[in-house]
Order: sequence, then C-alpha cells, then structure tokens
Amino acid sequence: MERQIRYQREADLEWAHQFTKHPGCERLLSCIQCGTCSGTCPLSIYMDLTPRQVIALVREGFREDVLRSQTIWLCASCYACSVECPQKVSITDIMYRLKREAIRSNLYPKRFPIPVLAREFCDMVRQRGRNSEFWVVFRMAMRSNPKILLSMARTGWELWRKGRLSLRRERIQRINELQYIPATSKEVD
Ligand code: SF4
Ligand code: SF4
Repeated sequence: MERQIRYQREADLEWAHQFTKHPGCERLLSCIQCGTCSGTCPLSIYMDLTPRQVIALVREGFREDVLRSQTIWLCASCYACSVECPQKVSITDIMYRLKREAIRSNLYPKRFPIPVLAREFCDMVRQRGRNSEFWVVFRMAMRSNPKILLSMARTGWELWRKGRLSLRRERIQRINELQYIPATSKEVD
C-alpha cells in the first residue's frame, strides 16, 4: 500500500467509536500497540498493513485506508494473534468485521481475487440458493484476473473428466423463502 501522510481532520472518529460496539470489537481501544499480533501472524509478511497497523488505523478512524487494504483479505482467521494479544483484543473478529464492511461499502480492492470471490459466492447463494463451483470461480476470474483461468484449466479439465466438476448452474426451489433469512439479505449489517 502506498504510504501517505494522513491528517487528523481526515479521520472519522465517530466511525471508530461505533466500531467498538460490534461483537468481538469491544476491546479495540485497549490495544497498546505492542506489535505481538504482527509478530505472531504467519501472513503478515505478505500484508500491505500489519495487524498492528490495522488496529491503529481503525481506532484512529482512518476508515477508507483500512477498508481498501489487502490485509483484511489475506487474514486466514487462524486466531494466533488473538490468542497471543496481551490485551485480549480479538484481532480476528475485527478483521471479519472489516471484511463485511468493505464488501458492503464497495471499498474492497477491486481486482484482488479474494474479496471478489467472497462477493461472487454471496451473490450466487443469495440468487440461487446454491454455490456452483465452476461458475463462482469463473465469475471471480473474469472480474479480477482472467489469466488465472489458464493456470486452472488443466485441473478443471481433470476434475470435469472424472465427474468432480459440474457446469450446471443449480438453483433450489422456493428461493424466495431463503431470501427472507437475514444472513442472505443484502441489508444484513
Ligand atoms: S497484540 Fe494486541 S495489544 Fe499488541 S498491538 Fe496487537 S492488538 Fe494491540
Ligand atoms: S487471525 Fe489473521 S491477522 Fe491474526 S494471526 Fe491469523 S492470519 Fe494473522
């Protein structure tokens, strides 16, 4: 991520305050910026912001910087950081919350495959009640980086040949009933 100077007037302190009210995010302000989470995280070397930086940006209200970062999508939810944090900050739950907000606000990195895959998966389940693996991966690739289809072609062919991959787009009956469930609703918070 490109480093930029940020000014206090750009911060959204009300958002940061509200953030602490979400389940799992209550101890955000207890962070002492010790960096244990970043040192523990097996993926931090690949992240554009370390977990410690994510926590610092959230509590200072720099919403867009954190929602646009790749870090929240690289987090593998292993909970190692949360277990080691001396202040019992649930960094993993904070990452989950940020992912949901990035998708809902349309601020996720647009051609980064992980959030695109998450969005396509949710859209397909919401529309059809089932995940058709071939189509969700195909749509993810077309919206992020179509070239990755070439690297998957051989595996896809072998799976299809052995009957392990279907090209059918499945749909459950009475999809309208599923759409009443909050977890599949677009309005879910
Ligand atoms: S380990 Fe906990 S206290 Fe230390 S920087 Fe990370 S979140 Fe903050
Ligand atoms: S839960 Fe996410 S941020 Fe925490 S250590 Fe695991 S990968 Fe890193």
